[in-house]
Amino acid sequence: MSWSERQRRMLAAMGVRLFAPAPAAPSTAAQAVEPVVDAGTAVIERPAEAAAVAPVAPMRATLPLPTPAREPVPSPAPARATATVPAPAAPRATAPGPAPAPVRASARGATSVAAALEGAIDPALAERAAHIATLAWGPLHDAVAACTACGLCESRKQTVFGVGHAQADWMIVGEAPGEQEDLQGEPFVGAAGQLLDQMLRALGLSRRAESGEGAEDDQAGDPARRVFIANTLKCRPPRNRNPEPDEMARCEPFLKRQVELVKPRLILLMGRFAVTQLLKSEEAIGKLRGRVHHYEGIPVIVTYHPAYLLRNLPEKAKAWEDLCLAKATADGL
Ligand code: URA
Repeated sequence: MSWSERQRRMLAAMGVRLFAPAPAAPSTAAQAVEPVVDAGTAVIERPAEAAAVAPVAPMRATLPLPTPAREPVPSPAPARATATVPAPAAPRATAPGPAPAPVRASARGATSVAAALEGAIDPALAERAAHIATLAWGPLHDAVAACTACGLCESRKQTVFGVGHAQADWMIVGEAPGEQEDLQGEPFVGAAGQLLDQMLRALGLSRRAESGEGAEDDQAGDPARRVFIANTLKCRPPRNRNPEPDEMARCEPFLKRQVELVKPRLILLMGRFAVTQLLKSEEAIGKLRGRVHHYEGIPVIVTYHPAYLLRNLPEKAKAWEDLCLAKATADGL
């Protein structure tokens, strides 16, 4: 595979350095080689000659799109409604209320997130989920801010509802707020968030309106170039521990409703907890990426979590492939 100028700029923006070694012998100098990722340095090698002649072409035309193994679409994506703007941040709830009873676990026990989600058939929880499924943006925001459905309400500084355009074409789902997100009330504002923003920028996407589009208004701008970012959990787990099955089951109705309201053309799941929450799969990301899944009729692409990419630089090239597949899918290619 050779890399176009635009792709190489994108990889550079994501922190993957391209390295063009001197050719070993004249007979092999002009040969294009498969990109080689050096595990230690995340260097991708290609001959200097090939790099020099790589054409600069519009992104759509140059993306090396893997052929997606499309799964059957369970039902058509719902029609997009007129924009409903999320309400401003609501004040933090002060009374956590009584400790909730744990979600009933399935035969596999609460060690499995998917099992706990399947086991969440407690009538009170079902009633709560049915209520959340009726909420518009403002009441949904208030319900998240006041939520005491699990123990995380006791340690959070504030809830982290989500950010972006209420009718964005792309919805991105991460794991849970970390320390910075808990302090600032916005998802992905730490180091992983900076990488996510770089990746989005390389695709011409943004969580915020651009200057000139009315940047002070979160709902301004073209929804086709905007994302809505949310997490599986709206509260920070103490010391950034993994989300627990019970917490994910209780938080799931909020994310489900957010998807229903945004009605994105594409959902990008980052990391295994987002995958477990929406796809109900505990398969490794490496097994799930590279094809189109579906959630409620909406195409879903699975990729690595940005925090994982920061620790595993060579995987950034795979994440770029995933983003290319996501773009092609969102564009209906
Ligand atoms: N990681 C996530 O998954 N979400 C955040 O909001 C921050 C870090």
